[in-house]
Amino acid sequence: MTYRVGRGQVLRALDGVSLAVRPGEVLGLVGESGCGKSTLGRCLLRLVQPSGGRVVFDGTDITMLPERRLRPLRQDMQMVFQDSYAALNPRRRVGDLVAEPLRVHPAPSGGRRSRGEIAARLAELMDLVGLPQTALERYPHEFSGGQRQRINIARALALSPRLVVADEPVAALDVSIQAQIVNLFMDLRDRLGLTYVFVAHDLAVVRQISTRVAVMYLGAIVELGEADAVLHHPAHPYTAALIAAVPEPVVRTQGLPPPLRGDVPSPIAPPPGCRFHTRCPVVRERCRVDPPLLRALPDGRDVACHYPLVEERAGP
Ligand code: SF4
Ligand code: MG
Repeated sequence: MTYRVGRGQVLRALDGVSLAVRPGEVLGLVGESGCGKSTLGRCLLRLVQPSGGRVVFDGTDITMLPERRLRPLRQDMQMVFQDSYAALNPRRRVGDLVAEPLRVHPAPSGGRRSRGEIAARLAELMDLVGLPQTALERYPHEFSGGQRQRINIARALALSPRLVVADEPVAALDVSIQAQIVNLFMDLRDRLGLTYVFVAHDLAVVRQISTRVAVMYLGAIVELGEADAVLHHPAHPYTAALIAAVPEPVVRTQGLPPPLRGDVPSPIAPPPGCRFHTRCPVVRERCRVDPPLLRALPDGRDVACHYPLVEERAGP
């Protein structure tokens, strides 16, 4: 995935990332802001077309799929954004906003949905997200941030998608409300059999909801594996540093490297070799010249580091 940012400068937001999301999983996507998490989320839904890497949805490679063939798949893939207010047109009633996808997309039978069908679906959706039916008659500004996120979730679920990409969906909410919305996501997953890609910078949130975790740094996945393995026994020094940086560590691990120093380097000119080498507490000479590829460790996770922190032998 590359963006043009002014003359001759190409920002590589994602660098050769390949990712297949498994049915029924919650894939947590973590990293500091600007690391490419949101871009990857948008690429997965083909809201933007990646120029590198590969996106596979339900066995279909959708990386280069033309819009015409992508359209039927769109109903299966929806996005929930961080800013609950910006995503909702303030001049329209909640009922209108949530019904919009039902009006735009054909019913499974191929025809348009009747008013009665839409009303019944709206009632179901309000129940699903825990809002009263009267919410349908009101306007977005009449709701709190958490309630507005429930409205966005209802809208995203209107067409019964199978994959939901949630981009920092609780980051703008108070901590007490965050837990309620995370619980709602988990509840909906159980009830509807949803698959999530859950983008977050908050490791506590990621740990609560994820079955697998992908850690990103400067547009690349540096570690990918089962949530327990990645968060309890990080293999990549960057993952370890992220965990160590949490004031109340999610997991106390022995011998973690010191917290990260310095800023994330510019993605316009990422460092040569390992792109994390300028901040890595265990950097060695080889790291400055030789870029580590994402490779599988014996325990099944993938890591992009020459000197991973977990031993490279089979078994736990
Ligand atoms: Fe650190 Fe080297 Fe591993 Fe990069 S490859 S994360 S610099 S040890
Ligand atoms: Mg983002």
